[in-house]
Amino acid sequence: MRRPLVAGNWKMNGTRASVAELIEALGQQEFPESVEMVVFPSCVHVGQVVSGLADSAIAVGAQDCAAEPGFAALTGEVSASQLVDVGCGWVLVGHSERRLILGESDEMTGRKFKAALACDMTPVLCLGETLEQRQAGQTLEVVGRQLASVLAIAGIGSFEKAVVAYEPVWAIGSGLTATPQQAQEIHAAIREQLSHEDKRIADGVRILYGGSVKAENAAELFAMADIDGGLIGGASLKANEFGAICRAAGN
Ligand code: PEP
Repeated sequence: MRRPLVAGNWKMNGTRASVAELIEALGQQEFPESVEMVVFPSCVHVGQVVSGLADSAIAVGAQDCAAEPGFAALTGEVSASQLVDVGCGWVLVGHSERRLILGESDEMTGRKFKAALACDMTPVLCLGETLEQRQAGQTLEVVGRQLASVLAIAGIGSFEKAVVAYEPVWAIGSGLTATPQQAQEIHAAIREQLSHEDKRIADGVRILYGGSVKAENAAELFAMADIDGGLIGGASLKANEFGAICRAAGN
């Protein structure tokens, strides 16, 4: 039985004041105990959110980490070991905004994934195709290649602790959501690819859906067999919406 997980990606949003308000508002939400929750604030707010959510059931993650796990001459980067030191146990790797806007390669994503695990963090590996790739019928090939490159670098055993997020790029921040059936098809294919290496690990891996998830569409997505929760962008900045999505995952 896979425990549902709802993750909030706050992206490059927030000030100390607005983050304090969001922490306060999250504290007023009812969250189901059956659902695991984590939020990913901007790196500069991680310490504030770790302190602010210390008494809550919500864990804190970072949106990225360096490919080198420990101290290194790597100006501007933040290592997984530094994130652990400030109380952060989770990290997003390979978000499409990093792949497509910042040019992060499959190989770099794999190295970051491995670095996170080396520091005992839980990486959330983001995979997904662009609209052009979907329209060209390349979705399974693209997502399969992104996953294969991480498997080649980190091995199937690493998925014992990791989480996967399928996020079609065309659905992120666009208001367009994949239908539950479209998402389920890709989630099942991801699990199938992992099961070729190890069925037990594949059956245990949580695969989140991300892309314009809101309170109103969460329940039908989470009802699908291979959708184990969501990675939520815009809607995670509103405590009411995030709370409602978490409650949908608990039903
Ligand atoms: C995301 O950026 O991971 C995401 C899913 O964003 P949104 O929910 O805003 O589409």
